[in-house]
Amino acid sequence: MPKDQSEKRARNGAKNGRPSREEAEDAVRVLIRWAGDDAEREGLKNTPGRVVRAYEEYFAGYAIDPADVLGRTFKETNGYDEIVVLKDIRFESHCEHHIAPIIGKVHVAYLPDKRVIGISKLARLVEVFAKRLQIQEKMTAQIASALNDALKPKGVAVIVEAAHQCMTTRGVHKAGVAMVTSHMLGAFRDDPMTRRELLAIVGVPASTALTNV
Ligand SMILES: [Zn+2]
Repeated sequence: MPKDQSEKRARNGAKNGRPSREEAEDAVRVLIRWAGDDAEREGLKNTPGRVVRAYEEYFAGYAIDPADVLGRTFKETNGYDEIVVLKDIRFESHCEHHIAPIIGKVHVAYLPDKRVIGISKLARLVEVFAKRLQIQEKMTAQIASALNDALKPKGVAVIVEAAHQCMTTRGVHKAGVAMVTSHMLGAFRDDPMTRRELLAIVGVPASTALTNV
């Protein structure tokens, strides 16, 4: 995150009662003690500072308005009216229930109607929502809605495949399980042919139980 942006957020946060960096570091010290260790020992002395800096990265998405990311859309499609797909966008997020990593990939597709958008912006949009406390279903729907609002395309589809470390490292300890969610709007929801074409492109078998959110 650029420095001025993080400072701006710190200022805004302070106004809204955002805790200070010191308070955040103290909270990490409490969790270390809660885990059963000595927060003052050599190896852990600088850990609270590192964790707080890591949080700035993990949750950088709160400081970014998705509308700004999508701001400049390109009106000219040059008659292109086929599906636009960006496959396998890797993302890292954190589940809002355990603050454990969710790691996976997103496929974003849309069917243009007059407007198209730079591919890097699709990847950036994913990042804005991933770098927040999330549940996968919500993130899937948020990406789709933001794209739909900005581009007003004939259809939008977002498919997310991810592993949740709160499932693999704790609780039920189910390793190697990916959760698949999808959010389909417009032609991808209403037209089975368009939907099938998309699933063939992204390589998700039509038989996969997509949790439509
Ligand atoms: Zn969780």
